[in-house]
Amino acid sequence: MAVLVTGGAGYIGSHTVAELLAKNEEVVIVDNLEQGHREAVLGGKLYVGDIRDKDFLDTVFRENAIDAVIHFAANSLVGESMQNPAKYYHNNVYGTLCLLEKMNEHGVNKIVFSSTAAAYGEPENIPILETDRTLPTNAYGETKLAMENMMKWFDAAHGIKYVSLRYFNAAGAHESGRIGEDHDPETHLVPIILQVALGQRPHISVFGEDYATPDGTCIRDYIHVSDLADAHILAVKKLLRGGESRIYNLGNGIGFSVKEVIEIARQVTGHPIPAVVEARRAGDPAVLVASSERTREELGWRPKRDRLERIIASAWAWHQSRPTGYEA
Ligand code: UDP
Repeated sequence: MAVLVTGGAGYIGSHTVAELLAKNEEVVIVDNLEQGHREAVLGGKLYVGDIRDKDFLDTVFRENAIDAVIHFAANSLVGESMQNPAKYYHNNVYGTLCLLEKMNEHGVNKIVFSSTAAAYGEPENIPILETDRTLPTNAYGETKLAMENMMKWFDAAHGIKYVSLRYFNAAGAHESGRIGEDHDPETHLVPIILQVALGQRPHISVFGEDYATPDGTCIRDYIHVSDLADAHILAVKKLLRGGESRIYNLGNGIGFSVKEVIEIARQVTGHPIPAVVEARRAGDPAVLVASSERTREELGWRPKRDRLERIIASAWAWHQSRPTGYEA
């Protein structure tokens, strides 16, 4: 099969490309390299360009017989989305609109979409089910939900089948050590903690200690990026077998508080990792933990790297070998 991966030079995209290549699949990658890194693309055919450029998309679809698309290309920072929602509506929502229009024009009718637990907002129940209410508390989650809904209507009108994967907190790095997480600016908890361990930051700021959780800090469900990558491939295969459109959660079903993550990172790295409690970050729900029962049952997905120690250890190996990330 030939798969087009948008955002394939980014963190989760590059790990998915790596798993596709390991399975000898044909991979075409589209990335504007705004967040992505050329070096993170371990193979396949890379087109550098923006999904909002319709002529560019025409070229990609004309030059390649694409069977399915995996769509990662988007901005994904909660804090930034609260300060600059326009950027999120433009890149995420309008970008997805361009992609779906071009898929439709070129007769490509299967898409796996990188969605988020932020689509739920403050959860009604823990663990969160796919059928639970979606009421995002931040602009990022709102745009991802809008993208999902757009796919629903493109399916109804044009028969474009989609699988939307709502990830919880992606972390870790590829076991080869060749690719890992490198954002600029870095805002995610695990890499920032590891930058403290490397001596690149004086401390980790804990955003809020007054949440309604046992230790007062936010609880998240951390999942290894390669387990996420595996789920995308299972989802593509399901669509290619004629599967219907569906939404799936991707998490391990176990929550860790910010303080617990810091403590495990201290154990894994052997570094003290000083922590300083600061104000809450806008838009953060207190607890996000997934039920992935549906994903396990219907996709046959089994996370293989689910212990947080292992997730952090893989990230630590990457950060130690590439302390400044990919080449500039
Ligand atoms: N967090 C924190 N300090 C940081 C970065 C993140 O306390 O420097 C918290 C954040 O408030 C959230 C959790 O860690 O509760 C995970 O945040 P991250 O940005 O990694 O992922 P998100 O949950 O926003 O997708």
